[in-house]
Amino acid sequence: MGIRVGVFGAGGRMGVTVCQAVAADPELELVAAVDPSHDGIAARTVIGVPEATFDVSGSPSAMIQADVDVAIDFTAPSAARGNMRFCAENGIHAVVGTSGFTEDEFDAIKDQFVSSNCLIAPNFAIGAVLMMRFAEVAAPFFETGEVIEFHHNNKLDAPSGTAVNTAERMAAASSDWADDPTESETLAGGRGARGPGGIPIHSVRMVGMVAHQEVILGTTGQSLVIRHDTTDRSSFMPGVVLAAKRIADLPGLTIGLETILGI
Ligand code: NAP
Repeated sequence: MGIRVGVFGAGGRMGVTVCQAVAADPELELVAAVDPSHDGIAARTVIGVPEATFDVSGSPSAMIQADVDVAIDFTAPSAARGNMRFCAENGIHAVVGTSGFTEDEFDAIKDQFVSSNCLIAPNFAIGAVLMMRFAEVAAPFFETGEVIEFHHNNKLDAPSGTAVNTAERMAAASSDWADDPTESETLAGGRGARGPGGIPIHSVRMVGMVAHQEVILGTTGQSLVIRHDTTDRSSFMPGVVLAAKRIADLPGLTIGLETILGI
């Protein structure tokens, strides 16, 4: 018997890919799919998994009926808050990819998870998690650092959460950054947005791209470029599947994949 997994937001862009990744893993068993906009529709037609014999449900109670061990949530913050509370109240472990929670909310979520565990990861792409870690390790050895993030042209916000998070971690690792010599911008925004620690962040929006980021660090006579490329949503799946397998061993609330990766 594998770990019994249910997916909140199963009909969404991420949810469909997550359902397929769970169904394809021999240690996991996809047993429930929740998404109000697909309520009552055969799961196999929504998620493209022929062996799924259940219907998508509009209600979280499907997670209890299917005796789910781990619920994975890729919805929206407003929905995920309720889904996490439901999981905590019913002793179901939660793996959450939905983005947009505040630090205050993390505190409240932590208090909720007493009889089961929760992992929230702003980025499930293992390469992106390593990129942030490498940037943090490198930061004290360089006096200039900038972040350039590249995304598809449908992304509504800028800069990306990953770019801001990267700058935050670089700024926490080093406060010894050189002053920017720029006295005037010929065009406003020429030096990008100022992130944590004053680290410039540049956002590119481009047809044909998915999600990419470069961290550039420079010091005397040398520069270092750390680059990560996401080519499609499958990039997130190894991280999601790993979290579903490991969440039972991580008491309370865990933020990010770093603990699981041991970095
Ligand atoms: P999406 O295509 O809009 O999918 C979200 C799905 O959740 C929709 O089908 C939505 O239905 C459904 N939903 C809404 N309320 C629900 C509820 N109460 N219970 C269950 N399902 C509900 O969005 P997406 O592109 O898949 O992204 C989902 C989230 O994942 C976003 O927050 C995104 O930023 C995040 N994300 C995180 C990572 C990561 O690595 N952590 C990677 C990619 C994306 P309706 O359409 O009817 O509202």
